[in-house]
Amino acid sequence: MIITGATKVLALIGDPVSHSLSPIMHNGWIADHGIDACYIALPLKSDDAETEIRALCRFGLAGANVTVPHKRAAASAADESEGVVANVLRWKKDGSVSGFNTDGQGFLDSLAEAAPDWKTRVRRVLMLGAGGAAVSIAEALGPHVDTIYFANRTQARADAAADALRAGRVLRWDDLERGFGAADLIVQATTLGMGANPSPDWPLAAAKPTAICADIVYRPLETPFLKSARERGLATFDGLGMLIHQGARAFELWFGVKPDVEKARRRLIEALG
Ligand code: NAP
Repeated sequence: MIITGATKVLALIGDPVSHSLSPIMHNGWIADHGIDACYIALPLKSDDAETEIRALCRFGLAGANVTVPHKRAAASAADESEGVVANVLRWKKDGSVSGFNTDGQGFLDSLAEAAPDWKTRVRRVLMLGAGGAAVSIAEALGPHVDTIYFANRTQARADAAADALRAGRVLRWDDLERGFGAADLIVQATTLGMGANPSPDWPLAAAKPTAICADIVYRPLETPFLKSARERGLATFDGLGMLIHQGARAFELWFGVKPDVEKARRRLIEALG
């Protein structure tokens, strides 16, 4: 593609961003749709990201994604935001900026792909972790289920996550077996099993044979958690789906067209090697 003065610029803002698959995903879709735009990654190290993002907002980007650790700052920097955490920023014609969070809905899209009947199957959810991603997913799942048990290494974070939701409950980190036995959906939303991080011996033997197991980590694509669940014959799905679907929702917010998620999956699997 040729970049001209008219080319629209979109950016991923976060720290770190060099490992991100979002530029490959979005530039692939931009090319598919013949849009005069490019998507770049902007590393932002800052103790005051809200001010930096507010300044960036004046440069007239066409859109932005925001990742760890700046999603709260992005919501505060936007002129309006649908929540206190934003992973998508969209510029209006008058230059004002709106914040959105597509992470949770991206997870639901991915769940629906893996288990189209999930709404009739899933009443109880075990959420492993209570970080930013776990909370976004739980917020999206909340209206559709009876109970979401948060189990987190740091108990105070699980307490806060559970308190914020009607369906939220807390399960002690050393009581996981009980949670695995009760859940219809188990979501691994910690960093355990990511890259070289060790993974514990999850008590998957206690899980119901009908349980659905999701890992939102996608490096590696098959985490130790998913491998054990699959070996036990449980339904599983990986973290690439959430990444692609949250990105597809962002792309639609920016350009008004639904991109091809299957094409993105092929490209990202190739990029992951
Ligand atoms: P975060 O806010 O930093 O939360 C990290 C979570 O991992 C916390 O619950 C933390 O527990 C837990 N954790 C870290 N080290 C642990 C350990 N040694 N033992 C037990 N628990 C540990 O991060 P996040 O944004 O929620 O992201 C979590 C994971 O999801 C990352 O791997 C990220 O790459 C992935 N992710 C994937 C997608 C996707 O689209 N697929 C989107 C977002 C995130 P404490 O509270 O005790 O520290």
